[in-house]
Amino acid sequence: MNTQNTQKASPTLPNPASGKVCVVGIGPGALDLLAPRALAALQQTEVIVGYRTYLNLVKDCFNPKAEVISSAMMQEIDRCRKALELAEAGRKVALVCGGDPGIYAMAGLVFELAQSQGNRCGIEIIPGIAALNDCAAVLGAPLMHDFAAISLSDLMTPWELIEKRLTAAAAADFVTVLYNPKSKKRTSQIERAREIFLQHRPASTPVGIVKAASREDEHVELCTLADMLTIDIGMQSTLTIGNSQTFVWQNRMITPRGYAKKYGL
Ligand code: SAH
Repeated sequence: MNTQNTQKASPTLPNPASGKVCVVGIGPGALDLLAPRALAALQQTEVIVGYRTYLNLVKDCFNPKAEVISSAMMQEIDRCRKALELAEAGRKVALVCGGDPGIYAMAGLVFELAQSQGNRCGIEIIPGIAALNDCAAVLGAPLMHDFAAISLSDLMTPWELIEKRLTAAAAADFVTVLYNPKSKKRTSQIERAREIFLQHRPASTPVGIVKAASREDEHVELCTLADMLTIDIGMQSTLTIGNSQTFVWQNRMITPRGYAKKYGL
């Protein structure tokens, strides 16, 4: 393991007297897509911390005796600090994240805070099915070849860097999954992303737009780079832009791996 850049950390061995933070990925929303390990963590922990909307999706799985601490969106730092503080005091805490906790969620922030604060409680990351997995399954098989995931949120990442990555992914013919495509305040980013892709791919390239995958209001649209902006896109949407080989068959989006070319089918 590379131990460079860890100077900031104080003693790295967990303190056996402290508790533990389990950073739990609950998947896209449907209970039957919650992994058994995540379910066990929700059933067994004494304190459950998370964003209200995500907690509501899985509240039926909680340990009935658990203390539940819910918060509004955009309070990630407070949420992670609270979870670490409780674990330092000896409690077993589940910190709930949507999808996978290591993909645009809180696993990294928990480690960053623990490093800067010198926390010694245990930290366990429990994976979940990410939006990109579930959206791919709903659409067909669009991620069968190399792909990139790019978040269009420029709240913490400079837009120039996001454009650089969009350009690189588009030029290198990656299937590209766009997270955080649009919100009420951020409306131009998706338009710019489309322009960049149109510089490298035909307007007929398939685009799959899945909103609220595996939730009650799931909505799926198959369109193209040409008409994608006519579809309703919001905070709960993920876009999958095909590569130069991606095709649509019977309303499913498919990226060939290359079997047909190599072996004939
Ligand atoms: N940790 C999550 C990502 C959180 S970032 C994961 O692993 O998927 C929030 C973004 O994820 C949203 O803006 C949206 O682009 C995507 N997303 C999360 N849940 C989704 C769902 N059920 N359907 C479609 N997209 C979803």
